[in-house]
Order: sequence, then structure tokens, then C-alpha cells
Amino acid sequence: MAASLFSTEQFEFLTALPGASTRGVSRSVKKPYIRIPGNFPCAACGKVFRLKNSFYQHRYVECGKDPKFSCPHCMYKTKRKGDLQRHVLHRHV
Ligand SMILES: [Zn+2]
Ligand SMILES: [Zn+2]
Repeated sequence: MAASLFSTEQFEFLTALPGASTRGVSRSVKKPYIRIPGNFPCAACGKVFRLKNSFYQHRYVECGKDPKFSCPHCMYKTKRKGDLQRHVLHRHV
């Protein structure tokens, strides 16, 4: 019988071993993340972009345009194909 192998005291001793409860805790120290304010504000809608590329993509692809991509499963609409793909993956798969 495996149940009689450990007494309760022995079992408590095992679980109280140093490291037993701290397993899985990452020891790497995270660098403090400093959020840099965006430097590329869109004059048309007020959105601010951190990256020049994002800003240009927004200006030429998104800003002032109607959402082109609509979800076949619900009412969700977006201007970006990638956003729709992500939405379908998260919501409907
Ligand atoms: Zn805009
Ligand atoms: Zn949907």
C-alpha cells in the first residue's frame, strides 16, 4: 500500500524543504520598463505612434478609412487584416 509509505509528519517535512514551494519562480531580474511617449502624432485623429513605420502605416492604411475587414462570425470589423486574423484566432477558434 503506497498510502502508508509516509507518515503525515514526514510528508510535511518534505513539502517544507527549501525550494519546494519556490520552484518555478523566475530568478531573472526584470529590467524596469520605461514607456517612451510617442513621437509621431497623427494630425487627423490624434493617435500617437512610437514608431515612424507605425505612423506611416496608420496614415496610409488606416486613418480616415472605413474598416475593410469584417469577421464572418460576428459583427467585428477592422482596418487591418492582421487584426481580423488575430480576432478570429482568439474568439472563434
Ligand atoms: Zn490618424
Ligand atoms: Zn468575430
